[in-house]
Amino acid sequence: MTATLIDGKAFAAEVRQKVATHVTRLRDENGITPGLAVVLVGEDAASQVYVRAKGKMTTEVGMNSFEHKLEADTSEGDLLALIAKLNADPSVNGILVQLPLPAHLNEDLVVNSIDPAKDVDGFHISNVGRLGTGQKSMVPCTPLGCLMMLREFHGSLSGLNAVVIGRSNIVGKPMASLLLGDSCTVTIAHSRTKDLPSVVRAADIVVAAVGRPEMVTGDWIKKGATVIDVGINRIPAPEKGEGKTRLVGDVDFASVKEVAGAITPVPGGVGPMTIACLLANTLTATCRANGLAEPE
Ligand code: NDP
Repeated sequence: MTATLIDGKAFAAEVRQKVATHVTRLRDENGITPGLAVVLVGEDAASQVYVRAKGKMTTEVGMNSFEHKLEADTSEGDLLALIAKLNADPSVNGILVQLPLPAHLNEDLVVNSIDPAKDVDGFHISNVGRLGTGQKSMVPCTPLGCLMMLREFHGSLSGLNAVVIGRSNIVGKPMASLLLGDSCTVTIAHSRTKDLPSVVRAADIVVAAVGRPEMVTGDWIKKGATVIDVGINRIPAPEKGEGKTRLVGDVDFASVKEVAGAITPVPGGVGPMTIACLLANTLTATCRANGLAEPE
């Protein structure tokens, strides 16, 4: 058996199209153009790529993109002052500070200085608390994208056994909260979990967010399970030539696709959904800020 491929790239394009349609309506009917401000501190190469991609997709759906690139040695005071300015700016509906920050900056302090209503990454402590208590919040983009794909594929998730591998604040924990919110029976596994393969074998839904290339293999997977691979790992690819690399997930795609019922690929799975959800969150924040009905 070969698993159904959950095409995150195509689904993300649909989500972005829906966002673009709403943005056009907001502009035509309400005279509002959503604005997303992205703050990048320093020269981290991967972060620069992400910020560029986010800016491009923001303008493609008709929103305003405001990029703020700060020197690596920017002081905490200067960064907080910029965030305060963006918090007060009515043309900015979403604020994202690209992480990780240089070591001299306190990430928690910086993230918690963002107005929670504009916190489109959903990392502010008040949004984390709201998600954990089932209240309306801004939901972190990567787990939100995973949930949307799962709902699209399964319809109802109620009663399914879900195992989330990874307990980070940005992926694993919010993913578990979302699955619990959809009435899954949720297990969170991590580096201290005993006999991880047998824990995973009990799952109808597996979300792998570990950061270890191709760790989850086919013999860990219950027949017919749905596998969402969050991992993005660059590994050497000598077959493509000397010094070349390729991207792989936390799941061994070749062996898992023979057992699973459905699987997301890497690339082209969770990654594109993450940016689409960032745009969806910015739209949601704009509607809430203006007292308008939220998009579904
Ligand atoms: P973190 O490093 O913050 O967390 C990794 C988690 O995996 C930790 O909870 C850790 O456990 C657990 N872990 C590590 N090794 C093992 C192991 N051998 N067995 C079981 N659990 C283990 O990573 P992130 O959550 O930030 O990211 C996870 C992956 O997702 C990365 O590959 C990252 O690149 C990718 N990612 C992809 C995104 C996308 O848009 N597609 C967005 C964000 C991340 P412990 O807590 O005990 O240390």
